[in-house]
Order: sequence, then C-alpha cells, then structure tokens
Amino acid sequence: MALVTIDDARGFVLSSCHRLEPVVIPVGEAVGHVLAEPVRSNEAVPPFTNSSMDGYAVRSGDVRQVPATLRVRGALMAGDDPGTLVVGEGEAVRIMTGAVLPPGADAVCMVEHTRSEGGFVVIDEAVGPGTNIRPAGGDIAAGDQVFAAGAPLSAAHIGVLASLGMEQVLVYRRPRVGVVSTGDELTSGPGPLKLGKVRDSNRPALLAQLKADGFVPVDLGRSSDDPDGLAKTLQEAALECDALLTSGGVSVGDRDIVKTVLEKLGGQHARWLQVAVRPGKPFAFSTLPPNGAAVFGLPGNPVSALVSYELFARPSLRLMAGHEDLDRPRLAARAGVDLQRQRDGRLHLVRVQATASADGVLHVLPSGGQSSNQLHALASANALAFLPDGEGVAAGDIVEVMVLDADAV
Ligand code: AMP
Ligand code: MG
Repeated sequence: MALVTIDDARGFVLSSCHRLEPVVIPVGEAVGHVLAEPVRSNEAVPPFTNSSMDGYAVRSGDVRQVPATLRVRGALMAGDDPGTLVVGEGEAVRIMTGAVLPPGADAVCMVEHTRSEGGFVVIDEAVGPGTNIRPAGGDIAAGDQVFAAGAPLSAAHIGVLASLGMEQVLVYRRPRVGVVSTGDELTSGPGPLKLGKVRDSNRPALLAQLKADGFVPVDLGRSSDDPDGLAKTLQEAALECDALLTSGGVSVGDRDIVKTVLEKLGGQHARWLQVAVRPGKPFAFSTLPPNGAAVFGLPGNPVSALVSYELFARPSLRLMAGHEDLDRPRLAARAGVDLQRQRDGRLHLVRVQATASADGVLHVLPSGGQSSNQLHALASANALAFLPDGEGVAAGDIVEVMVLDADAV
C-alpha cells in the first residue's frame, strides 16, 4: 500500500471532523474552553479613576515647586467612597492603592517621597497631572469588544470575565473521547505477568493525555482481539462520545481487527492508511453512526500510539473543541549530536530532550532508545525532532522540533 504524507493524512481526518455545538457554562469552569461568541463589556474597567500607589492625592499645580507643604484633609482606603471629600488648593488626601481619586486631585505622590508632619504633609517630589493614576476605563472601556469568538480562555481571560461580573459564558463543548485498548495479550495492574502477556499502557497514557489536553476522557476498558466484542464496544460508545481512540490492531498481523471492524460498522470516511512517518505508520480512521463519532485507530506500540495521537487525533479534537490553532509549537533547534537515520521514504520523529541554552538557543539530544516500544524515552522527552527522509542531521545543524512540554524545556 502506498504511503501517504502526514499532511495528507492529517488533512483527511481534519476534513472529517467539525466543531461541536456551543454550550453555556459557569465562568469558573471555562479555563481551556474556546469562546463561541465575542464578549463585550457593559462597564469600564477600572470602574472609577483610582490611585496606583500608596501616597497622597494632590493637585499637581500645588507641587510644581518642592518641597511643598499641604494640609491633609483625610484618608481614603481601597473600597472607601470619598463622599464629600474634595482636594482643594493647598490640600492633600492620604490615599491607598485602588482607592477612588477624590475630586480636585489630579495626581498622586508616592508616600516614599513625602514626610508627614502633624496635620500636614511635605511633598518632596514634583508630579505632573495624571501621575500614579489609573483612569476609569483605562483597561477596558464600556462598550469595548473584550474578546473575539474563537479565543481560548486562559486564567487571565477568566479574571477579565469575572471583573466584568460575568458568571456564565458561551463556549464550544469539549469532545468526550472514549479510549479502548485492543489485544489478547493485554492485562492491567500488579501481580506476576503470565508469559506472553503485557500490561496495557496505552489506555492509561491516552486517557491522561486527553485530560492534559483539556478533553473529556471516557475509559472504555480493554477489548480482546474479537471483532464482535470490539464492534459492540465501539457502537455503544459512539452513542455517547464525540470521538473514540482505539490502540492496536491496525497493522498487517493476523489479529489486526480494527480496520475490519471499522469497515463492518459501516461508518463514513473509513480509511486505513500507511503514513510516511516513523513511529506511527499504520493508522485507521472512520466516523460512526448515528452521530458521526470520529474513530482514530492508533497503532499498538506505545510510542506509536501517542505519536499518532499527537499527529492526527489531537489536532482533530482541538478542532472539535473550537480551537483555531490546532498544533503544538514548532521551533528550530540545534542538534547536540549527529541524529543519523536511513533513507526509507518516511519522516522520522526522534524523541529528544530540548534545552534552552544561556544564549536562548534550543539544543536537542535524543532522550533514549528510539524503537516504537520504548516508551521510557518518550517519558524523558519534551519534544519530537523532525528528521526528513535522508541521512539525518549532523551535530550543530538545525533541526525542526515539535514541543510537547514547554514547561520542561
Ligand atoms: P498491534 O498493533 O496490536 O500489533 O500491537 C503492536 C505492539 O504493541 C505489540 O507488541 C503489542 O503487544 C503492543 N501493544 C498493543 N497494545 C498495547 C497496549 N495497550 N499497551 C501496551 N502495549 C501494547
Ligand atoms: Mg494487537
């Protein structure tokens, strides 16, 4: 079977997926969601002109010549209403950060540049109009569009929404994603392993990755290499999930049942692909009735399963969740050693540890063995280096990397 490029395979799966419907959720639960409509502000933020420093509210004209001695008319804490308090000529008001600027004042002198003397204050630094003042609406003006539809919500976005008094927000629903591992050899948990058995690592790893990526993981358990059992699991799960991840059973072995099951289930877009990438060559895809749940048939080898998820499932699930930016960041890095490879018509993805050196340049070193069963080297990696078909990259040369964990760089 002819190999297809990553881009073609990715294009195919993305074109078979679509954004989920918008839902209203509490602002407090919205981090990581994508806004489904623009947010406008009905109010100014800050709501009133206030001091950005602890000090004295003054008329700047009174402190053009310093030192200047002013009569202290009172004090304003954050939260106080100035009421009838006004700063007249030759007067000052003690003011704390965030307190309303009293009428008459047009500047604040920092307390560090003042001396309190009985009912007076000596100002030692001249300040111009507007100094240390945060004008009403200086952050957001009433009527402003604060965020556009399509904005992914960060903690700061949540803070802004809360500062506008919003309790609910319209966002795209995040996909519910079922995960099933296939393989007669699979078992789980402690206890001695019978010869021939291995513990299922793909399902826990994929469930964890889905959670880390902000999707809703659904554990569908393990399936033996029995087509009827797997078909039943997928059919039932397709009723309650937006997408399904299977692992194993997509290569050319006798027990590689996933592609047969997907064909039998009669979904649209059913395709079995050989992708020009290593690891992650075999890959199956379909969308299942009745709701078009997207099934990603990931390879069984643990590294291949997670890499294939990164290349095809993750961007598709992000699309469903409303994201416009579907991919991990790609950066240029310098190879710390020769990254050799053999020509085989495939792109090689090398598990690497990327480190930013003192000059800010990213350097990469392989994080361990590169066989597709060696999951430990993926756990030690924070990026995948792209080695295009050819002889590889020499130490010191530039190589493109996909950053998996920016916190670990
Ligand atoms: P398969 O694609 O089903 O032929 O599996 C390829 C390799 O991956 C075999 O060595 C399997 O035992 C292994 N494998 C498949 N599924 C899992 C899994 N869920 N956890 C760990 N290893 C697996
Ligand atoms: Mg198998």
